[in-house]
Amino acid sequence: MNAMDGDGMDRDVVVVGAGFAGLRCASRLREAGLRVAVLEARERIGGRTRSETLGRMTVDVGGQWIGRGHERLLALAEAAGATLRPQHVEGAKLLQLSTDAPGRVRRYRGLIPRVSPLALVELELAIRKLNRLAGEIDPAAPWAARHAAEWDAKTVASWAQRRLRSRGAREVFDIALRAVMTAEPGALSFLQLLFYCASNDGFEALTGTTDGAQAWVVEGGMPTLAQWLARDLGDALQLDCPLQSLEQDADGVRLHTPQGCWRARRAVLTLPLPLLAGLDCRPALPARRQRLAAASPMGSVIKAVVAYPDAFWRKQGLSGEALSHRLPFNTVFDASWPEAEGGALVGFIDGAPALEQADRSPEERRQAVLESLIEYFGPQAGEPSGYIEHNWVTDPWARGCYTVAMPPGVLSGLGAELRQPAGAVHFAGTETARRWTGYIEGALESGERAADEVLVALQDAAAA
Ligand SMILES: Cc1cc2nc3c(=O)[nH]c(=O)nc-3n(C[C@H](O)[C@H](O)[C@H](O)COP(=O)(O)OP(=O)(O)OC[C@H]3O[C@@H](n4cnc5c(N)ncnc54)[C@H](O)[C@@H]3O)c2cc1C
Repeated sequence: MNAMDGDGMDRDVVVVGAGFAGLRCASRLREAGLRVAVLEARERIGGRTRSETLGRMTVDVGGQWIGRGHERLLALAEAAGATLRPQHVEGAKLLQLSTDAPGRVRRYRGLIPRVSPLALVELELAIRKLNRLAGEIDPAAPWAARHAAEWDAKTVASWAQRRLRSRGAREVFDIALRAVMTAEPGALSFLQLLFYCASNDGFEALTGTTDGAQAWVVEGGMPTLAQWLARDLGDALQLDCPLQSLEQDADGVRLHTPQGCWRARRAVLTLPLPLLAGLDCRPALPARRQRLAAASPMGSVIKAVVAYPDAFWRKQGLSGEALSHRLPFNTVFDASWPEAEGGALVGFIDGAPALEQADRSPEERRQAVLESLIEYFGPQAGEPSGYIEHNWVTDPWARGCYTVAMPPGVLSGLGAELRQPAGAVHFAGTETARRWTGYIEGALESGERAADEVLVALQDAAAA
């Protein structure tokens, strides 16, 4: 049906955004028998997941790993018949601190890198403390924790400065924080870090591979699972269809796009918070919701995958995992697919270095990535057979990634708005998740929760 046909634009529910939150929300509403449309600004589905072809491999330049405990995503992968691979972890890992001479990298095994005994003790105590405080938080309402205001008045840096006195310990902590939150410790609320830990099974799980958030990779790329979720949508899915403005009245919601105006009894918005801030809504969204959107910047990340004729680092006893406090390509993992007869490394420019690199040319960034890899893995790393990247900092429909990096004062003061409907408009997206926030699993959880909210609201309206 043409989207412009009169009746074709009348729905029970319009879902905005075809990432995992929007697609799961739409599928649940359709399972309940509702007429649904999904409006997506991009020319593709999948949102913050995206795959590219690199030689004979399909690689993820957005969301990639399924973590341990991500039950909805595991179930989705099984239903879609996807093949999952455990993340390659065999071999030593590499670490470089800012005080290490250029070219010097430390080898280590396990979760905590080789630093001085004092630094090790400080790190272990700090992580234990972090997890204990996170245990005091209900991930459904971090703003209601007894010490929420106190924790939200601090940055992660100000907390870490008191706990981690040795430079080595602070640098290892900063590296881990950048890798997990794509933000600088001085810009991030301590309450938000605690919420993230509470929502995602603790700090070790966030940084871990086999036992943590980086456990499995989907053969063919993560977006294949989004395609499976969207398989029955047909022309209920409208691509290249950015929502520009939204009006509500007693009859429901009107959603204006360059392709026309949709009408619905309810709408579900799954946009990242900064994009919500620019939306023209009548009546205006509640003042606290507007302030929440305006005060919640995304983290900063550029992701790149580099292919090689073979996984040469494995022959040197290395796992491919590398971390640095000094190099821009500050977090790296092995991304080889054995049958592709080659090797690949995937990595991130996280936090402040991502902002620095975001406005450079792709060629300059490629150079910076390769120079980093040469420092970690030696001269062979300077001879790749392929390179691909995605700059999420400047991506117009994400405005940064992986998720929001709230500064002090936002989560305790405004967080209660995250899931609060505004009239007939409901909110989903990984930022609104109680469990597994920031991850695809959180996006799925939020889509289901918003769908259930809509179903209850429509039932209540029918009963009234
Ligand atoms: C580099 C990177 C690595 C990551 N790694 C992992 C990982 O390994 N594992 C993991 O679980 N998660 C990872 N994530 C996070 C994960 O990708 C996200 O948590 C998840 O995809 C968010 O889904 P969502 O549906 O909530 O939001 P989105 O995917 O952002 O979906 C929102 C959709 O709304 C659309 N939109 C925006 N504005 C409008 C508008 N005005 N009108 C219509 N549509 C609009 C967007 O285009 C988008 O498609 C990573 C993210 C990135 C970028």
